[in-house]
Amino acid sequence: MRYSKLFLPTTRETPAEAEVISHQLLLRAGCIRKLTSGLYTYLPLGLMAMQKVAAIVREEMNRAGAQELLMPMVQPADLWQESGRWQKYGAELLRFKDRHQRDYCLGPTHEEVITDIARRELHSYRQLPVNLYQVQTKFRDEIRPRFGLMRGREFVMKDAYSFDVDDEAAGKSYRIMKEAYHRIFQRCGLSFRAVEADSGSIGGSFSHEFMVLADTGEDTLVICSSCEYAANVEKAAVALSEAGSAAEGTAALTRVETPGMKKVDRVADFLDVTPADIIKTMVFLADGEPVAVLVRGDRQVQEVKLKNLLGAAEVEPIDDDTVWKLTKLPVGYMGPVDIQIRLVADQEVMRMTDAIAGANEKGMHLRGVNPGRDFTPELVGDLRQITSEDGCPACGGRLSFTEGIEVGHIFKLGTSYSEALKATYQDKDGVDKPFVMGCYGIGVSRVVAAAIEQNHDDNGIIFPLPLAPFQVIVLNLGMKNEAISSAAEQLYRDLQDRGIEVLLDDRDERPGSKFKDADLIGIPYRATVGKVYEKDGMVELRLRATGETTMLPFESAGKQIATMIREELEQLQQSFD
Ligand code: ATP
Ligand code: MG
Repeated sequence: MRYSKLFLPTTRETPAEAEVISHQLLLRAGCIRKLTSGLYTYLPLGLMAMQKVAAIVREEMNRAGAQELLMPMVQPADLWQESGRWQKYGAELLRFKDRHQRDYCLGPTHEEVITDIARRELHSYRQLPVNLYQVQTKFRDEIRPRFGLMRGREFVMKDAYSFDVDDEAAGKSYRIMKEAYHRIFQRCGLSFRAVEADSGSIGGSFSHEFMVLADTGEDTLVICSSCEYAANVEKAAVALSEAGSAAEGTAALTRVETPGMKKVDRVADFLDVTPADIIKTMVFLADGEPVAVLVRGDRQVQEVKLKNLLGAAEVEPIDDDTVWKLTKLPVGYMGPVDIQIRLVADQEVMRMTDAIAGANEKGMHLRGVNPGRDFTPELVGDLRQITSEDGCPACGGRLSFTEGIEVGHIFKLGTSYSEALKATYQDKDGVDKPFVMGCYGIGVSRVVAAAIEQNHDDNGIIFPLPLAPFQVIVLNLGMKNEAISSAAEQLYRDLQDRGIEVLLDDRDERPGSKFKDADLIGIPYRATVGKVYEKDGMVELRLRATGETTMLPFESAGKQIATMIREELEQLQQSFD
């Protein structure tokens, strides 16, 4: 491809609306343009990178025995009513009517549609296992679409669904996908980690997320320094230490004035105790109903754990004014004693004795609060965020924390969808049984953003070679110089003949501009044909990632560059064989 013909509108300025680096660079490097909130056009360069991801995904899915199909994006409401998700899915599901007033939605995911296919077309155990996937545009009406391709409303996903005869076979399908995902992200040239993920009501370690490690990630991962344990903080279970189980509390319940003391730290200072002596009470909205949640004063509520304990579809924090409107409870002075709304507690709170808590009256707290004696929560469980002081849930070892971007999610579904949709097959004895299912997603467009979050510098994108729109950019720095121009053209053709994806910068621009754009768009190999060629017959090869430069004799430059690229790609492929 010739740069002069390529539709590649780069810009020098950092767009004000872009908060994270991948969003800024995707805009500046002419990869995407915004249509409206959460909706982007992929310009040629961005589309090329995304198609690179999709190609790797397809190769590895096929290799793992999955088969590609393509389902409609528009889905009829009746299927969603059968699964129960028409009611449950919430506002992320975009619903609309057709001209006959029939209800539809735009597919955010395809469990319903694929289960419908299975119940119509798969009848016997002899046809199983089956794993079907697609690469398709999804729509989710996200509350906060942001960060460009990272969290769009429309985005490209690979979604796969497996159907098996029983749990054991489904476990095997799951392991095959887990292995395929390792290969995919490895081949994309990304630094990533598979972690145990929250699997909602199903429980167990039947869900893994694949995280690209990057500071800007929206997810936090806990990693054990002694064993293999790695999990999303949403999932990481807090082990209660045995040492913590103290004697019974004996103090009487007394009221104490704490004027203006709304924050835990201030109450602690004022009463000369530590935050660990205070019971913190917070109100959340669970499926629209206010629930008071108790954690120790120095702890944070983990909302996903709360959602699971309550069996709620949605849990959200609410601001002080709304708490007051809904419950008439004074924020900052709330407490569990005689509280009039639903009450749940973190397990650790139930071990506290003679604690401090709000009195549900402005400017007042209670001393000598004892669980069991003074209040009884409706539910008790592991509700708080794990911290670095907690031991590893698997081995007790030391934990460290790191940020990640979720690029893939694999999930053992069991029979929830097949039972709801009555999707069955006949086993060996002619008995009808529900399929045991799994589902496996990859955010194909998000991978492009994640790759840039992980690989960039002040000058622009540094595409990992396997995802780069072009592998090499050849700079012609003598547009008006016959010898230089014809050498650049020759190198360009030579690389093309060797099957290398090459971009020739043949624009009538100053060298400085050409260098800047080459850096910005992040092409891994840059070959410059300029004055040094004219003088010494050499081509300068520069690696975008390291800045390392080498001089190559013009005659062998094409061959040498092609070899380097092949070797780099092969290395990524081989590391798991
Ligand atoms: P998240 O927690 O980020 O909202 P999710 O759990 O809703 O993700 P899944 O339903 O598991 O995501 O979707 C599969 C994959 O699709 C995710 O791992 C992610 O890579 C990608 N994905 C999900 N939502 C978006 C989005 N709004 N924009 C881009 N990619 C997305
Ligand atoms: Mg989501």
